[in-house]
Amino acid sequence: MEQVAGVYLSYPFCAQKCTYCNFASGVFPQEQARQYIEVLSNELRSHVWEWLPETLYVGGGTPSTVEVAVLRRILALVPGIPWKEATIEAAPGTINLEKAIGWAECGINRVSLGVQSFVEAEIRRTGRKHTAQVVADELNILRQVGIDNVNIDLIAGLAGQKAASWRESLDWVERLAPPHVSIYMLEVDEDSRLGKEMLLGGVRYGASDAPSDDQTAEFYEMAVERLAQMGIERYEISNFARPGFASLHNLKYWKLEPYAGFGADAHSFDGRVRRQNPESVSAYMEGKPAESAPANVDEERFFVGLRLLAGIRPRSHEWQRFEEPIQHFLDEGLLESENGVLRLTGRGVLLSNEVFQEFIRS
Ligand code: SF4
Repeated sequence: MEQVAGVYLSYPFCAQKCTYCNFASGVFPQEQARQYIEVLSNELRSHVWEWLPETLYVGGGTPSTVEVAVLRRILALVPGIPWKEATIEAAPGTINLEKAIGWAECGINRVSLGVQSFVEAEIRRTGRKHTAQVVADELNILRQVGIDNVNIDLIAGLAGQKAASWRESLDWVERLAPPHVSIYMLEVDEDSRLGKEMLLGGVRYGASDAPSDDQTAEFYEMAVERLAQMGIERYEISNFARPGFASLHNLKYWKLEPYAGFGADAHSFDGRVRRQNPESVSAYMEGKPAESAPANVDEERFFVGLRLLAGIRPRSHEWQRFEEPIQHFLDEGLLESENGVLRLTGRGVLLSNEVFQEFIRS
């Protein structure tokens, strides 16, 4: 029996839709959220567990708004407690002492805080309501109940962001000293209101005041350097941790280890087949079937595994199959290879999408 798989639970409901967000999440009537919990619980109940979950990740959306009693009932349907790592995603402004105590009692031992920025002008433009002080207070509450393993998410490239304000956010990270930080570069695409406005050259959501791609890349590099000085090292393109605090659950995705996802848009992988639940909440709740497709593990090792800074150890047939793109990127200085390990260079990280696309095409 496989003992090391992870479980992902999706709760795609939010109090408001953030301007930069391109996830399949949204604002829905409360009654729908209540019914969703029932459907999710039924999916968990009907699952045949062939292994004991090692990690659990409750993502969203904003699962930190779920009442503790309800969360307790859902988590009771997942075997394996105490999980080695059990994370809940939280929006700042939704945590209080009672809730944090409840989380700890349910087995939650890690919280991922969607801070995005500590600078009020930037936060307001995203549609969020928190302040830096709220984050500091909630981090204290979590530590009080013994949840020290906290991640802080930041976004480089938000509207109105300047080098000085980005520095201010990084100063707050230093002050709060979390063991894990995620730095995402804003994705400018049609799926978020801000991205769409930027593509159209409009001014709403501060779109005309958003940093250029080059500035965003500079902010990212600035963060890599500052976090390293704090002892928080990059271990994946967007993820940074103190020794021993890399996310065990997320590592499963990058190492192509098995996991099972439940809820709308949740993905599962059993080592051979990838499965995706319907993306929309309504389709999921109507019981539309999940879609499955065989995984292409060779390719995925390159465009998923290479996200890890430790790199991958290609098998001999993979060196042969991808000889051309590997050599090309080694020559370009985007990949480096040592003792059979292939990894992205610092410059390769910045151009990683270009590198990955080549492996998908090969
Ligand atoms: S960023 Fe998070 S909280 Fe904001 S809309 Fe997207 S999923 Fe919801």
